[in-house]
Amino acid sequence: MNNKRIGIVGAGISGLHTAYELAKIGQPFILFEARKRTGGRISSPLATSSSARFDIGPSWFWPGQANVESLVSELGLNELVFEQYASGDALYEPIDSQIRRGVGGISMAGSKRLNGGLQSLTDTLRQKITDLAGEDSIKLSTRVSSVSLGESSIDIKDVNGAGWQCDKIVLALPPRVALNLITFNPALSDERQRQLSQVATWMAGHAKAVILYKTPFWRNTNLSGDIISHRGPLSEIHDASPFEAANLDCYGLFGFFATPPAYRSDDKAKVDTQIANQLTRIFGPDAASPIEIIYKDWAKDDLVASQLDQKIPNHHPSNHWDSKLEDDWQERLIWSGTESADGHYNGYIEGAIIASKASLNFLQNR
Ligand SMILES: Cc1cc2nc3c(=O)[nH]c(=O)nc-3n(C[C@H](O)[C@H](O)[C@H](O)COP(=O)(O)OP(=O)(O)OC[C@H]3O[C@@H](n4cnc5c(N)ncnc54)[C@H](O)[C@@H]3O)c2cc1C
Repeated sequence: MNNKRIGIVGAGISGLHTAYELAKIGQPFILFEARKRTGGRISSPLATSSSARFDIGPSWFWPGQANVESLVSELGLNELVFEQYASGDALYEPIDSQIRRGVGGISMAGSKRLNGGLQSLTDTLRQKITDLAGEDSIKLSTRVSSVSLGESSIDIKDVNGAGWQCDKIVLALPPRVALNLITFNPALSDERQRQLSQVATWMAGHAKAVILYKTPFWRNTNLSGDIISHRGPLSEIHDASPFEAANLDCYGLFGFFATPPAYRSDDKAKVDTQIANQLTRIFGPDAASPIEIIYKDWAKDDLVASQLDQKIPNHHPSNHWDSKLEDDWQERLIWSGTESADGHYNGYIEGAIIASKASLNFLQNR
């Protein structure tokens, strides 16, 4: 790697990891992020009714995901790790008959969560990066709109017309989002655009709700909080309580929506009512009055989902594409982000770190 500046687009876990590794070796870089915050699909907003954070994007990593585990450990976050609550019976709600108790196969037992939400991981990475490389190394609220290969550098521009020069660029974001939001000069070939547009963005078409209660009424009756429902609107539900729930006096369930993006309402009050009705149907009157519902429709977020993601794939993507060799870009435009990870962790947080490591290897060897 020469000592020239590297541009990284996207401060999700993948771009943050790349920036962190470059900061550790003193390699100049700038990390561009369109949002006011870092973390991307990892997002753990503070509840308004409690001082706890709840994951509205990913919640889990799994034992054996060596890259997440070693990053958590390196950042000194091991004491935040706890196991997904899964004690007690699961429930199954068929479309047209009685709810059944104790139906197996839907537990997330053994999966790992982080106290404070998974955002503890990305917030710590952000802090480490700015400690090592300075506040200016991360440009928030900077939506990159064009990248152009010049004689001696790559020109990066944002939607407000501000510009920066870098030697190489790492695109740590879903390819469909990049195709939608960024103009490439030289243009990517039609064939390459077709190939990239087929790379589905994991979970982009989904919506998630976290429902907060003062008491864990499901735990009190030996239910785990795991539910599969064929009636909806939530199709898959799990316990989302923070680790220190007993002290915080705030417990949670979370669920993914079964309803396809086009049929989901924008009316939060209506969505809240639908959710409360479903949970009351399942658990009885204890569930009728949540203290708060946090809701995020990821399909409506253009920094995650494109038009093509409005149709949810029915299986986990297994993307295999060459993310390093872009025609006409002299090996200076590098795709990263979980969608570019090779192997079966593609789409997961583990895949985002694997992709970052592959990009760093590529940069190292050039
Ligand atoms: C609801 C949900 C549940 C999930 N559950 C799990 C789970 O339990 N476990 C798991 O392992 N994975 C899960 N995932 C997937 C996981 O979130 C992703 O694999 C991972 O967070 C992807 O990280 P990334 O850095 O590759 O991409 P992203 O997090 O998407 O980061 C890309 C970044 O690029 C930014 N960006 C986009 N366009 C521009 C632009 N033009 N200019 C500047 N910045 C831009 C975005 O704002 C974003 O910050 C889930 C995802 C969702 C949405």
